[in-house]
Amino acid sequence: MEVIEKTDRMQQKAEELRLAGKVLGFVPTMGFFHEGHLELMRVAKRHCDVVIISLFVNPMQFGPKEDLAAYPRDLEGDLAKARQVGVDIAFVPTVDQIYPEGFESRVSVEKVTKHLCGLSRPTHFDGVTTVVAKLFNITKPHLAVFGQKDYQQLTVIRRMVNDLNMDLRILGVPTHREPDGLAMSSRNSYLNSEERKSALCLKKSLDLAREMVGKGERRSAAIKKAVEEFVRSHPYTQVDYVSLCDPVTLDDVDPLRGETLLALAVRVGKTRLIDNCVLGKSEKR
Ligand code: AMP
Repeated sequence: MEVIEKTDRMQQKAEELRLAGKVLGFVPTMGFFHEGHLELMRVAKRHCDVVIISLFVNPMQFGPKEDLAAYPRDLEGDLAKARQVGVDIAFVPTVDQIYPEGFESRVSVEKVTKHLCGLSRPTHFDGVTTVVAKLFNITKPHLAVFGQKDYQQLTVIRRMVNDLNMDLRILGVPTHREPDGLAMSSRNSYLNSEERKSALCLKKSLDLAREMVGKGERRSAAIKKAVEEFVRSHPYTQVDYVSLCDPVTLDDVDPLRGETLLALAVRVGKTRLIDNCVLGKSEKR
């Protein structure tokens, strides 16, 4: 596996590979790998000749009061894991490489960024789309792979790629979970053992909602109330949002019709966790 730190070197390498006829797959990450990240890399490997990952904790997507400084990092461990799953190139830029002096451009998606996480993280998605657009230009992929765990992020990226005619395909991969159901996240490392137990309420509340829908409930308010009450019955939790919305526009829906995204964000202690599922379609639990 080649480790590349410089933007121009990465761009040159990607161009060479393209000219040699290789199909390039790309997985952008902020590192501190768990199985969910590795799964995205395996999926990219199955679809492409060359897999490029990026490891970059992007300051632009963190709000002033968020966990940029505390964000967990383990570069050597991450590189070893990536090597094991057969990644070909790890792009590991410094902040200066991505945001050199004088940098002043933004890529902004207007509407789907305003819902869900956009309500409490108003600048977050501009940070995501700006860095992802840059990373696409630097790594020149034919395919980029993202996790459905960050459902809104995936939606925003798809919107950006469509709107700006970016010439690549976006693939979403189902959420990878711990054996007890907790969605894997680098931020799970912040949880103490009591909080870890409470954190299970996210996945369990999705199951509860699915059960209600299975029994015929279609009223958004009733489902939201049940989910919120269930989450609140667990210690250390604070609901940020529970949303039932259209899986493409993320606009609220009421009553439920066809496929509906149930997305939630919950603070467990100081850690903000998210999870989601699409209700109204037959999917594995
Ligand atoms: P992050 O390092 O948190 O920015 O995540 C990098 C990529 O991994 C994003 O596309 C995430 O959606 C994806 N990802 C994170 N957690 C999971 C998970 N539990 N299952 C599947 N993909 C995930």
